[in-house]
Amino acid sequence: MSLNNWQPVIGLEVHVQLATRTKLFSSSPIAFGAEPNTQASEIDLGLPGVLPVLNKEAINHALKFGCAINAQISEKVIFARKNYFYPDLPKGYQISQLDDPIVGRGSVEIKLDEKSKIIGVTRAHLEEDAGKSIHDLYTNNSAIDLNRAGTCLLEIVSEPDLSSAEEAVEYLKKIHSIVTFLGISDGDMSQGSMRCDANVSVKKPDDQELGTRTELKNINSFKFVEKAIIFEIDRQIKELEKGRKIVQETRLYDSKKNLTRSMRSKEEANDYRYFPEPDLIPIKISEDQINDVRKNLPELPDIMKARLMKSYDLSDENAELVTANKETASFFEDVLSYEVSPKNAVNWITGDLFALLNKNDTNISESKVSPKHIAEIIQNIEDQKISGPSAKKLLEIVWSEGGEIQELIQNEGLEQISNDDEIEKILDEVISENQKQFEQLKSGKDRLQGFFVGQVMKKTSGSASPQVVNKLLKEKLSK
Ligand code: ADP
Ligand code: MG
Repeated sequence: MSLNNWQPVIGLEVHVQLATRTKLFSSSPIAFGAEPNTQASEIDLGLPGVLPVLNKEAINHALKFGCAINAQISEKVIFARKNYFYPDLPKGYQISQLDDPIVGRGSVEIKLDEKSKIIGVTRAHLEEDAGKSIHDLYTNNSAIDLNRAGTCLLEIVSEPDLSSAEEAVEYLKKIHSIVTFLGISDGDMSQGSMRCDANVSVKKPDDQELGTRTELKNINSFKFVEKAIIFEIDRQIKELEKGRKIVQETRLYDSKKNLTRSMRSKEEANDYRYFPEPDLIPIKISEDQINDVRKNLPELPDIMKARLMKSYDLSDENAELVTANKETASFFEDVLSYEVSPKNAVNWITGDLFALLNKNDTNISESKVSPKHIAEIIQNIEDQKISGPSAKKLLEIVWSEGGEIQELIQNEGLEQISNDDEIEKILDEVISENQKQFEQLKSGKDRLQGFFVGQVMKKTSGSASPQVVNKLLKEKLSK
């Protein structure tokens, strides 16, 4: 993409589904994947005569987020009705917040190419989710599942402070790690627990005002956020360079074709006729309540990262990888609880384990490999009981089948042979099979040393101790 002296300007609206036990205004459960329409009560459907009751847990979750990003917290929480008609919104309105959002101005820090940048958060407000319309289940009809109706969402709106698709992804990842470290959301994008709309415009460096923006909807993965924004920046630049104007509109991202297309223009946009929700009284947030939340905040990713760098001497990059999400961070701490070297732990997790996770496109929590597995593999290497190649083999076995490390070492015959006599016997075999090379090695062709060690490793399926092989080979050469 050629920017040609255009500056992209991006602001994100991130919807985070809060991990509450029940819905925002009713006692219906919110478990994912339940039988359709089994988790919607008369309140979620807005039947006549019912009254919403505010979920205290949702307030608490929102306060945690506010404190975590050092935001202003509103003294009172008021809700508003956002009116629109859609089949998956049986009430005909969504209860949301307009004025006095629970979380006001705050900020988060992102890092890109070693440079850090502060991104402003304009606000974060509580609102209920709508149901789900399913258009591909029946040929001539649409289906409606109201299980999601009334689920608690925190909508986090950023300032237009992001200047590239990469920055937008970093910001989204930071929000993801904050909410998962706080434990206020599972952050699972594939299940819709975190969704994002991206507002995109471009301008020339000297322009005082921002350019006209479009809003990209329907983005449900980090990868697609990046691709959708890159496509849209490029499209806008091309339009402007042809002398056309950008129309303020909502566009849908099509991940199959990797393009955005117009959904509705601002003129067609709804007038939501917001008004204060008459069925909910304003609630007060006291200074004590905020202090209490602040005091009990768990360790946040940036702070954990700094701690890991300081206490374990981890590199910036490794500490960043380990604290990128709560699952990895907990996994790492669990491995350390077995008292293995932190450096080895980080190398195994971010190296071999991450490679397997990436290759199979899964999360650490879904894998069969447990912190205990990794810790025991490392312990066996540290005690020189298994070789590096055997350790890799072990990891691959537990990855696909699980099992107990000690048992696997026995059953697979992976125990490192460090017994001198046993190794010497094999080394002698190798030498007698490769007389010519041995003479060459003797007369100074040092590179052949590796060849002999390699042959012994091959004959023992990688279970000979390379240190012992090297030592014995040296002895033989000096004879
Ligand atoms: P709306 O209520 O129409 O969604 P907002 O003013 O609340 O509009 O802005 C929504 C998002 O759009 C915010 O994240 C904001 O940072 C971003 N935004 C506003 N103007 C621009 C612009 N010109 N270019 C890019 N993003 C913008
Ligand atoms: Mg918007």
